[in-house]
Amino acid sequence: MHELPQFPEVDRGLLELLIQAAPVGFALVDHEFRYLRVNQRLAAMNMLPAADHLGRTAYELFPGLVERWEPLWRQVLATGEPVLDQELMATLDGQLYSARVSYYPVRAGDGPILGVGIMVEETTEQRRLYELAQQSLAAEQAARTQAEVALRMRDAFLSVAAHELKNPLASLLGQAQLARRRGVAEGISEAMGRALEVISDQALRLSRMIDDLLDLSQLERGKLNLVYTSLDVVALARRVTAEAAAAGGKARVSFHSEVAGLTLTGDAARLEQVIGNLVGNARKYSPAGGSICVGLGREGQWARLTVRDEGIGIPPEALSRLFEPFYRGPNAEALHIGGFGIGLSIVHEIVTRHGGTIGVTSEVGYGSTFTVRLPLPEAEVQ
Ligand code: ADP
Repeated sequence: MHELPQFPEVDRGLLELLIQAAPVGFALVDHEFRYLRVNQRLAAMNMLPAADHLGRTAYELFPGLVERWEPLWRQVLATGEPVLDQELMATLDGQLYSARVSYYPVRAGDGPILGVGIMVEETTEQRRLYELAQQSLAAEQAARTQAEVALRMRDAFLSVAAHELKNPLASLLGQAQLARRRGVAEGISEAMGRALEVISDQALRLSRMIDDLLDLSQLERGKLNLVYTSLDVVALARRVTAEAAAAGGKARVSFHSEVAGLTLTGDAARLEQVIGNLVGNARKYSPAGGSICVGLGREGQWARLTVRDEGIGIPPEALSRLFEPFYRGPNAEALHIGGFGIGLSIVHEIVTRHGGTIGVTSEVGYGSTFTVRLPLPEAEVQ
């Protein structure tokens, strides 16, 4: 082992320097609690020069504080055992300080205890940071609870409002359709027929918007339930497209499938909603008309559904945000084409829940193509 050099005088001086320069407070008090040594750090904490401590007792210097230290010092002197890591707080000059303090017996060799060694580590800053963190945590928790309550209230309101709105809407729709059928049979004017058509169309639209709002609140709470069955997506898309085509409007809606049928596992009502929504958007965003093509095909392990229109198109900067809830394209807003901006976010969720993907390509002024890919079961993959 390396022999340590023995220079007692130098060592003592070094030790003194070490204690003086230490970033923790050190002091030694005798049996009367008179300060024998105080380092710079503790003097700074006590706000009293080190020299002013020496030879004076803690009773003289810190009359308000000493009664808290005294029992611990006495304990060290009586037992010869250290008292470690005491959390102490004090107000000095109106400022609150906190510190972690240890007291220990100081003796020369086996001789009697000379006094109490004091080591003080200031923790004011740590405590302040800790308290700040606690406060912001509490504020964050309160805000979260508040937000959850608000969300629950919104959902409860939505569900009540939706039911209250849907009943009169359903009867409005029923009556308008009945009147139209009777009118056709009994011979009403073309203008009246068109008016009744607009009424049913708009009532249906309102009803879908209400469904979308309800879906979104369920989706946000992870409660959008899907019921899976085996279904033919070609037949489903053909039916939805035919309904859209029958609804009239400026744009011509057509359907084309590369295959006779494609069976996959999915929620029929939700997939109908996906196609209905994409075709509905294609019509809505084609105010000047044009053609809308719904296409189906097989692409390896995927069933591919495309909905292409020749409508207003989507600006490039909007493409990446289309599937966010409440996002609406700037051109849709500018052209005053109404909507909540939630349909595509629901479509995206439904497709994703089926293990599929959705994408879009578009050119402003020329039209858009939405492509949905849904996974096919092994048997369907060629
Ligand atoms: P909404 O139609 O109610 O605004 P969506 O979530 O269905 O909500 O659509 C989001 C946005 O995507 C629309 O506001 C519109 O800007 C754009 N969009 C969707 N479909 C089309 C389309 N076929 N042609 C052009 N823009 C579209």
